[in-house]
Amino acid sequence: MLLDVRDLHVSYGKIDALCGVSLQVAAGQIVTVIGPNGAGKTTLLSALMGVLPARGHISVDGAANSVGASIGQRAGEGIALVPETRALFASMSVEDNLRLGAFRFRHEPRQRHADALAQVFDLFPRLQERRTQQAATLSGGERQMLALGRALMGRPRLLMLDEPSLGLAPLIVRDIFRIIAELRRQGVSVLLVEQNARAALTLADHAYVLELGEVATQGPAQELAHDPRLEQAYLGHA
Ligand code: ATP
Repeated sequence: MLLDVRDLHVSYGKIDALCGVSLQVAAGQIVTVIGPNGAGKTTLLSALMGVLPARGHISVDGAANSVGASIGQRAGEGIALVPETRALFASMSVEDNLRLGAFRFRHEPRQRHADALAQVFDLFPRLQERRTQQAATLSGGERQMLALGRALMGRPRLLMLDEPSLGLAPLIVRDIFRIIAELRRQGVSVLLVEQNARAALTLADHAYVLELGEVATQGPAQELAHDPRLEQAYLGHA
C-alpha cells in the first residue's frame, strides 16, 4: 500500500474535524474523497501533507507510523499537494513557478530540470506557450494546470489534489481529468478531493464518502457511482 491511514484525528481547538478516518491508496490508483462542504476533506489532505497536526497512524510504502512528519519529510517521501487555492507565486512567470516545484532537487544537474520541464510542457502545451507570462494573469484553467505542473516538477509518487475542478468551465474540467488519468498511466497515484462527485467517481478506482469527519461509505468507484444512497445527496438525478 502506498498510503495507509488509520484512525486519523484532527481537531481545531474544541472542534473535531476528523474523527478516526481510515483510508488506503494502492500504488497506481486514483482514489477519490467526496462529501459535502465542511466534511473535513481539505483538513484530511492538510493533515496528510504535514500542514496540520494530527493523531493516528500514517504509513507511506509500508514504513513505520509517521503521523507527525513535516511538509519537507512528506515531499521527500514523494507526496505532493495541490491546494484548493492553487498557491501560485502570482508575480512570477509560469516557468519560474514550475522551476520552484523542483526546489528539492536543486542540487541535481541542470539537464534533469530541463527534462522535467519538458515533460510538464508535453502534458500542458498551453503552459509552454505561456512560459514567460506572469502567473497572476493566467485564466482559472491555466492556473490549475500550472499548479498541477508545479507539483509534478517535484516528481511525486502520490499527488493529492484538492478540488481541481473548482470554478472551471466543463471543457477545462474534462481536460484536467484527462490529464489526471494520464498521470495514473505514467505511474503516479492520485488522491483526489472533489465536489464534482459524478466526474470523480467516473475517473477513480476507489472512493470514500466523508461526512462530518468520518468515512460514511467507501468502495469501488464504479459501485458507488450506482449506489442509490449516493444518488440523491451527491449525484443529482441524472
Ligand atoms: P469544503 O468542501 O467546503 O472545502 P471540506 O470538506 O474540505 O469542506 P474542511 O475545510 O476540512 O471541510 O473543514 C472541516 C471542518 O473543520 C469544518 O467544520 C470547518 O468549519 C472546520 N475548520 C476548517 N478549518 C478550520 C480552522 N482553521 N479553524 C477552525 N475550524 C476549521
